[in-house]
Amino acid sequence: MIRISQVMGPTVQGEGSAAGRHCLFVRTFACNLECGFCDTAYTWAVTDQKAAKTRSGHKYDRNDPAYGEKLMEPEKVLDRLMTLWDVEKRPTIIVVSGGEPMMQQQALVPLLERLHGWGNEIHIETAGTIAPTTGFDALVTQYNVSPKLANSGNARSKRYKPEALAVLRDTGKSWFKFVVTHEKDLAEVDLIVADAALPVQRVMVMPEGSDGRTNITTAQQVVDPALARGYGLSFRTHVFLWNDDPDR
Ligand code: SF4
Repeated sequence: MIRISQVMGPTVQGEGSAAGRHCLFVRTFACNLECGFCDTAYTWAVTDQKAAKTRSGHKYDRNDPAYGEKLMEPEKVLDRLMTLWDVEKRPTIIVVSGGEPMMQQQALVPLLERLHGWGNEIHIETAGTIAPTTGFDALVTQYNVSPKLANSGNARSKRYKPEALAVLRDTGKSWFKFVVTHEKDLAEVDLIVADAALPVQRVMVMPEGSDGRTNITTAQQVVDPALARGYGLSFRTHVFLWNDDPDR
């Protein structure tokens, strides 16, 4: 069984090196981090204690039929994907996101095997704290790794796992995306890039913000210092198009 929050699409990948590409999203339930700025807190902020970690303080309903936790067989997830797009005949990108999908690698393998076998690209969105197993990695086309900074509100010991980052880096399939709220965050990005020996040409910074105006303002602040370091810039494309609509 896979712990699922949402299966949706077609939409565009909003962030990172694949931004703008046609895709479907499989959003898994549960996360091992608690980021204050999380835009999918409905996948984990279902207790008072966890809700207190979010910026809004909002507690979500685990049993909410739209965004709450559903225990689904891989076949059921596949059926749902097939109602959205014919993934067998017209392959696309299947973005497996969360929450933290790497918590459920074993359960995801049967689903990914079918999708991969039909020619779909499999992109995994992860915070980079859990290394992939060999069997899981064999099915993955690209990892979009977003290591979290102090601005996320997580303790460093929880959010920074250099040994997991090293495995992800060495797959040769990872892009690294850091959420920044201010230019000063770039110094922390530099430390992680150096310490974890991340390939600079695969590092992007992405302004935090659940509305287009905030996204642009922060981007204007960070773009030049990011470029001077060799980093790229990612917007959150979907917030320009649909604000923070969880169904897009
Ligand atoms: S790692 Fe991602 S899903 Fe988990 S709390 Fe942080 S932003 Fe949300």
